[in-house]
Amino acid sequence: MRVKSALLLLLSLFAFTAVSPAQNNTENVILITFDGARTQEIFGGLDLEILKSKIRRGKIEDNELYKKYWAETPEERRLKLMPFFWGTLMKEHGSIAGNRALGSSVMTTNKMWFSYPGYSEILTGQPHDDVINSNDRKRNPYPSVLEFLQRKLKLNKTQAALFGSWDVFNWIGESTEGAITINAGHESYELASDNEMRVLSKLQNEKLSPWDGVRFDYFTVKFALAHLKKYQPRVVHIALGETDDWAHEGNYAHVLNSFTNNDNQIKEIWEFLQSSAKYKNKTSIIFTTDHGRGVTIKDWTDHGEKVPEAQNIWMAFVSPDSNLRGEWKNTPTIYQNQAAATLCRWLKVDYSENNSQAGKPIAAFTNK
Ligand SMILES: [Zn+2]
Repeated sequence: MRVKSALLLLLSLFAFTAVSPAQNNTENVILITFDGARTQEIFGGLDLEILKSKIRRGKIEDNELYKKYWAETPEERRLKLMPFFWGTLMKEHGSIAGNRALGSSVMTTNKMWFSYPGYSEILTGQPHDDVINSNDRKRNPYPSVLEFLQRKLKLNKTQAALFGSWDVFNWIGESTEGAITINAGHESYELASDNEMRVLSKLQNEKLSPWDGVRFDYFTVKFALAHLKKYQPRVVHIALGETDDWAHEGNYAHVLNSFTNNDNQIKEIWEFLQSSAKYKNKTSIIFTTDHGRGVTIKDWTDHGEKVPEAQNIWMAFVSPDSNLRGEWKNTPTIYQNQAAATLCRWLKVDYSENNSQAGKPIAAFTNK
């Protein structure tokens, strides 16, 4: 009897380990970043104090942003701001960490709290505050997870791609120039015989954004989608920028509308993925940001070493290999330096081969 139950136990253990590889469904990974998107808007939608500080005269109830985005609870407000992300993606397909009100936090390990160091930490898995300490157009000396996966999975150059609104991604995204496809800033995107891309490439330079080196996210997403359809890349980073640039200008209306536009854009990307046999149920996605920003009406526009609130970020996960849904609650802090290793883990690749100092895969995705 004892032997028999021990045998049964052994068999059931074996069955469990034998079953788990079948859960490794991920064949493609996508990273989508929203530059400087605060946890305050992501989890709570419209920030009433900021809106109040913007209204010079009249009643707040008559304000257009108030009418469009205000609701009593943070859950209702964020649903108005990002209806697809909260109403569909996080409900039915994924989960999100970083809501400190629920005991979940996500932090940078770099102490810079601005863009290049943040993206470099996401893409290389490690902070280098002594080296990566400006947003200058300087080549990243550390190879990115995009380059590593291109090599490791023997992908051609089109199959590991970065589409960014900010031109500095040309320097951040790869340590070896030309290793992967990078299209960033107001760069044209050429696809032979694709008239729409030709028109959009022309248009983005005739209708320039207000910023040097940053184009509107609209173009970044259109080019990324065209590339996904044509080349079916297995490793992609789509880097959106407007939530940061409008905030620096103190333009809260444009910040809020950018969240909503970005929400629409990720819906478009998601719908494409779901319509494609190459991607549907085979693609893991991380959504995150390079840094947070201030929390008061004085410093919400800002981030960097003097704004410690900016070290608080958020990270969301959609993966056919994870059944987590909704918000993380009462979980240990996770860190920006774990994103690269987590993407690799889903692809059954060990990121420590590229960088032994990098953050480890997030534990919630390694226990299966
Ligand atoms: Zn910024």
